[in-house]
Amino acid sequence: MSNTTGSGMGDLQSLTNSITAVTSPFRLYLSDLLQKYQPLDEGAIADYIPELALALPEWFGICAVTTVGQIFEVGHCKQLFTIQSISKAFIFGLALEDHGREYVNSKVSVEPTGEAFNSIVLDEATNRPYNPMVNAGAIATADLIKGNNGTERLKRVLDMFKRYTGREHDINVPVFLSERATGFRNRAMAYLMRNFGMVGDNIDETLDLYFQQCSIMVNAHDLAMLAATLANGGINPVTQERAIQEQYVQDVVSVMLTCGMYDASGEWTYRVGMPAKSGVGGGITALVPGQLGIGTFSPLLDAKGNSLRGLKVCEDLSRDFGLHIFNAATGDRNLEEWIAGSNGTDDW
Ligand code: GLN
Repeated sequence: MSNTTGSGMGDLQSLTNSITAVTSPFRLYLSDLLQKYQPLDEGAIADYIPELALALPEWFGICAVTTVGQIFEVGHCKQLFTIQSISKAFIFGLALEDHGREYVNSKVSVEPTGEAFNSIVLDEATNRPYNPMVNAGAIATADLIKGNNGTERLKRVLDMFKRYTGREHDINVPVFLSERATGFRNRAMAYLMRNFGMVGDNIDETLDLYFQQCSIMVNAHDLAMLAATLANGGINPVTQERAIQEQYVQDVVSVMLTCGMYDASGEWTYRVGMPAKSGVGGGITALVPGQLGIGTFSPLLDAKGNSLRGLKVCEDLSRDFGLHIFNAATGDRNLEEWIAGSNGTDDW
């Protein structure tokens, strides 16, 4: 198993690994991407609550983890930020494990909306929210997470993220409290869905869970691990722990592909062609099934709420290495060859 604990003094293996990773062509490529897009300073930091506005515009990190557990990272990959909407994809997976496909689909559809993530719109025929990636669908999905009380449900969510990333996660309490104090729109959606029987009686507990899941702190490395675990059929490629039952990986990944990038999902799939999920904290998690997970972090967002530098990085990676899932031709560069320079993990 790979060593991910970092190099202590005298730990020759780790030192060798980190030197190898530093000089690997793929890492150099990522570091060039970082320099190429660092000057891009358009876009805006989310400021619908004051805590998010504290992010620094220069923060920028890129991490890639292969399905055999090689880790490449450049820039601010240890900087913590809140996961926000990226959590929705993984909570959908947990809801599927808790109830199975049919029941979950009776409460939330899997159809893209072409509308903003916070739009208040339900499918007129069935009263279901459109998909688990818009807020209404995410709240209906959070409602399905089992547990005897709010604490137990949150613990199950945090345990799940730990299986994916290999480390403990905390909630950013000020972000959670602000989301809770100001989330009137989300609250309105939840009560509308209660009216239609799409969520149960524990509305306030479920809203708390939703605000908490959005406030989980992660870094770019975690986002790459989340994606790499999905790319690896649900098994964390570093710890070898299973994070989600294999049968549900395709559910999560296909909804990421069709609905993961808000109302830019169509264009993203066309240009980048990787199942992905973004969050207003500035993160993007993207995967190449069977090969790679990518995590990017830069808090400057475009008008649709996607990280601008993150979009550019994924677009370049897709083009340069031919990673678009529907691309039958090979890219200019062959990923296998470029990562071959590293036989270990980065100095994490
Ligand atoms: N907490 C945010 C909300 O519910 C999540 C938004 C996001 O990342 N798009 O509005």
